Amino acid sequence: MKNILVTGGAGYIGSHACKALRTAGFVPVTFDNLVTGWQDAVKFGPFVKGDLLDRGAVDAVFAQYAPVAVMHFAALSQVGESMQEPGRYWRNNVVGSLNLIEAAAAAGCTDIVFSSTCATYGDQDNVVLDESCAQRPINPYGASKRAIEEILRSFEDAHGIKHVIFRYFNVAGADPDGEVGEFHQPETHLIPLMLDAVDGKRDALTIYGTDYDTPDGTCIRDYVHVCDLVDAHVLGLEWLRAGKGSRVFNLGTGSGFTVREVIDQSALVTNRTVPVVEGPRREGDCTKLVSGSTRAERELGWKPVRSSLSSMITDAWRWHQTGTYTA
Ligand code: UDP
Repeated sequence: MKNILVTGGAGYIGSHACKALRTAGFVPVTFDNLVTGWQDAVKFGPFVKGDLLDRGAVDAVFAQYAPVAVMHFAALSQVGESMQEPGRYWRNNVVGSLNLIEAAAAAGCTDIVFSSTCATYGDQDNVVLDESCAQRPINPYGASKRAIEEILRSFEDAHGIKHVIFRYFNVAGADPDGEVGEFHQPETHLIPLMLDAVDGKRDALTIYGTDYDTPDGTCIRDYVHVCDLVDAHVLGLEWLRAGKGSRVFNLGTGSGFTVREVIDQSALVTNRTVPVVEGPRREGDCTKLVSGSTRAERELGWKPVRSSLSSMITDAWRWHQTGTYTA
């Protein structure tokens, strides 16, 4: 069985990726500092607690497990927080990734699947967001991810690192079997916050801005189910292992929904009222982020099958009611 090093394997997307990797016949080796991840979420392979800022620890995990490839999820990922603490974002995301990529090159592990973001595109009204679109991030989170993409490209030239970069749109939902799900502390993402408001764990959901230039004044996002997203990662890994070379793929469905549309769908799925209050814009938010690309479908053969808004909210709601991590 082939080991895959999964940084951030104790996090929301990383834990779902570990399950998908195990299903595909790989051994996911989680490397995670547990700052935002949960040891309870590591269910599908070995766990190494460590920090990417500790180069010695990164070298040690390559030496111990000899992974054939890396899936790199570990990152700080909150837009708002990145506006308040840019230094933390640059250090953690960029320096940590540099350590990882250098260690991979030194270990001769040359296939890396990287978790990037549509936030690297920034606010580009009326521009179709495909992979050739200019990257003009408007927050340090997006800028840090763009920088890591550049590091990967320069390491390909110098050290033969092959990479599949996935630029995610908004990831939602949970494992339909309920083994893993989304659990952040503190929570900042729209759907889990909304479900908290639905079942009284918080008073109301605050809508961040109602004066955007969109049909109902709220931001538009392209939501993709976490299980569909991680399936693409397994396809990306197979792409690299087949020697097809470095490539960038957007991962979104091409359909955009406003915050109010997501709220309305949640009311339908849960059959409850979503208490909301209207608030000011959140600093760093783009008006509209919707993928305009079908490259992943065409080239990787990716087929999102659970990414309707109702499926994502149904799975998130099931997890919300039954799943939790404590450690
Ligand atoms: N949002 C909101 N209230 C919240 C959290 C998020 O109105 O409490 C909005 C946010 O402005 C954005 C969308 O919901 O337009 C998705 O935000 P999220 O933080 O889930 O993901 P992001 O787009 O920042 O990656």
